[in-house]
Amino acid sequence: MLPDRAAVAVVGGGPAGFMAAITAAEAGVRDIHVLEATQEPLQKVRISGGGRCNVTHACWDPHELVGHYPRGQRALRGPFSRFACGDAVAWFDARGLELVEEPDGRLFPRSNRSSSVVATLRSAAAAAGVTVHTGMSVQALLAERGGFGLQVRCSGEQITARHLWARQVVLATGGHPSGRRFATSLGHTPVPPVPSLFTLALADDPLVALAGVTMDPVQLTLELPDGHREHQRGPLLITHWGVSGPATLRLTAFAARSLHAARYRAELVVDWTGGRSEPDLAALFQEARRDQARRQLANARPWPALGRRLWLHLLESRGVDPALRWADLPKRHQQGLIEALRRSRYRVRGRGPFGEEFVTAGGVALGEVNTATMQSRLRPGLYIVGELLDVDGVTGGFNFQHCWSSGWLAGQAVAQAIQGTG
Ligand SMILES: Cc1cc2nc3c(=O)[nH]c(=O)nc-3n(C[C@H](O)[C@H](O)[C@H](O)COP(=O)(O)OP(=O)(O)OC[C@H]3O[C@@H](n4cnc5c(N)ncnc54)[C@H](O)[C@@H]3O)c2cc1C
Repeated sequence: MLPDRAAVAVVGGGPAGFMAAITAAEAGVRDIHVLEATQEPLQKVRISGGGRCNVTHACWDPHELVGHYPRGQRALRGPFSRFACGDAVAWFDARGLELVEEPDGRLFPRSNRSSSVVATLRSAAAAAGVTVHTGMSVQALLAERGGFGLQVRCSGEQITARHLWARQVVLATGGHPSGRRFATSLGHTPVPPVPSLFTLALADDPLVALAGVTMDPVQLTLELPDGHREHQRGPLLITHWGVSGPATLRLTAFAARSLHAARYRAELVVDWTGGRSEPDLAALFQEARRDQARRQLANARPWPALGRRLWLHLLESRGVDPALRWADLPKRHQQGLIEALRRSRYRVRGRGPFGEEFVTAGGVALGEVNTATMQSRLRPGLYIVGELLDVDGVTGGFNFQHCWSSGWLAGQAVAQAIQGTG
């Protein structure tokens, strides 16, 4: 049953809200109520990481960590110097959940199941005395009598409306528009949301016939109509509609706003060479002419790691007969092939499907909260955490890490505020 009054109301039962509630409760605060609109809290944790939940990343230096957040960056140094990836690993470990590192640095629960993360958070909340209410959607949040009034729609057997007064409120509504609406009604000016972390669809391009081919590393340059350039290096996956893979997801995360402004029209320049310079490539071609002189181009690539299907595609794109022998490759074709290897251009015609992780860029600007406490600078007693803030990370566990960090800081600050006022 929802009471009429509470010390702390946490709006949103996602990872950031749970972390805030558990931290405050473990610090001794009683009477903490999490209000979750759906019947099942922590749903995004459950579906995350393909059902495995990429909880955080093995990135131990806060200065390096902030580089994984296209929105947030330097402003996150303070929060991450108090609670970062190592603290999250220790936090879960202390509550019985061991995290295991994969070769690329991502950390998953040993069970490889997101349900273990959900279970850990739920049992930590229960053990600390947090009350979690499901089917309770907050409709409005108002400043009221030195605290906050929450209008709540309760969906049980019947739909009823309730009113809850809380001294402190943690807003943890994720990307849901209601959180931005509440923040606005209390004086904030949230940055409009745009999608982040998506794949790119290319305008009808023969490259998509290579769906399934990966190259690692490639250098990507996104050229936007306003002259803005974005660069990324890493693994690329060719798909049925365009390109995906970690380098593409990083690229779209960092270019999320410019791409949105350009209606997802841009030019993608791909360097397939793994960073080889023009003279390096000329030397490789020279070697192939000498050592593989009698072999056909189709059967001998300039270097072995260059995928065969990709090499055939590049030959075709430059009108070079794959049956030619290396010794007979005309110089002008060699120049064309080197150009294709270093600077193939593709027309981006829109967003492709999202990667495994989907987040929104936008939300309450970090400048409007005190990043030591996550308390609103405009409305004392209001704390803003998780994806509702204008912070988003690239794929790899960074988005949850921000939830753990901001939730922990808010929970600590809520406890100090409540205990300080008696
Ligand atoms: C498919 C997918 C996979 C992902 N995988 C990963 C991953 O492996 N690693 C990673 O780091 N990140 C991942 N992410 C991103 C990550 O899930 C989010 O960054 C994170 O869930 C944000 O947490 P949050 O607590 O801020 O918001 P949410 O998780 O969105 O939780 C907000 C909660 O608030 C509730 N709510 C909203 N409005 C109201 C209201 N008015 N009243 C009451 N309740 C309300 C919602 O129902 C929800 O339960 C993934 C995202 C997706 C979509």
